[in-house]
Amino acid sequence: SPETGCRVWSEEAVRESYPAIPASAHKGTRGKGLVIGGGHMMPGALIMAAKASIRAGAGLTTAATVPAIVPSIAPSLPELMFTGVTETDGVITDIDAGILGGKDGVAVGVGMGRDPRSQSVVETLLTGTEGRLLIDADGLYHLKDLLSSLKEREGETVLTPHIGEMARLCDKEIAEVKRNPFSLSKSFAREYGVSLVLKGPATIITTPGGEQVVETSGNEGLSKGGSGDVLTGILLTTMMQHSSMKEALSNGCFLHGRTAELVIERTRTVYDIVPTDLIDHLSLTFRTME
Ligand code: AMP
Ligand code: MG
Repeated sequence: SPETGCRVWSEEAVRESYPAIPASAHKGTRGKGLVIGGGHMMPGALIMAAKASIRAGAGLTTAATVPAIVPSIAPSLPELMFTGVTETDGVITDIDAGILGGKDGVAVGVGMGRDPRSQSVVETLLTGTEGRLLIDADGLYHLKDLLSSLKEREGETVLTPHIGEMARLCDKEIAEVKRNPFSLSKSFAREYGVSLVLKGPATIITTPGGEQVVETSGNEGLSKGGSGDVLTGILLTTMMQHSSMKEALSNGCFLHGRTAELVIERTRTVYDIVPTDLIDHLSLTFRTME
């Protein structure tokens, strides 16, 4: 975009930067990811994120969630492994930092719920872990009171708010975020030392240093609950597989949005496309990248 001087991410940029899978690959080299979330009331968000991460190409994916929902998830997602959490009444109240050992990436927040007792999970991740960490959805809700810990975190942190979540994080009106998405993203990312993915019809990706990329794929069919959870799963995988976080996030957003476009060319319409269609059709986009 000319007025901000930031780069618009192109299909060519994706092709140049998307890592190929070497013939010698094994599951340990393609990323061991952990998704934390999914309480009693929102198991679907966790399912979509985990499934998207697996389809996007992660080597090993584990879900940390309340044990009660495992029997309802496991049969439909046999590639997924599970690990327990501390819970009360179906609410995740803590995680054992040990479950993070050996993970190449962690995503937290999808379907986690806003019970204040879950805040300690986000706190444990911020203060007790050093790897790449993505915080989305209800994880961002809990993060609001913990923003200062972001500055001290050793590892790279990614936040993926939509406009409403962004407004809450930076104490602004939604209208103001809409007026100044670039400058607000830049100052927030710099202040807290995070990579920021501000989602919308055009998604703005900002590095901790303030560099910005706009990713414009996708369509209005994505305006449905679950689209963001699918993106979280895809980004968990891309952030484990790219050394550059900027390329990981830009390519992941492309994979998500471009798949929505291709699904609509092939079968669905913007009316009836659902987020799980994206997961099932990532191959449409991967094929164009070969
Ligand atoms: P969430 O609000 O967390 O479910 O995330 C929504 C996802 O869908 C993000 O990746 C958005 O960029 C995308 N999305 C939502 N609405 C639109 C739209 N009208 N056009 C293009 N992408 C959209
Ligand atoms: Mg969301």
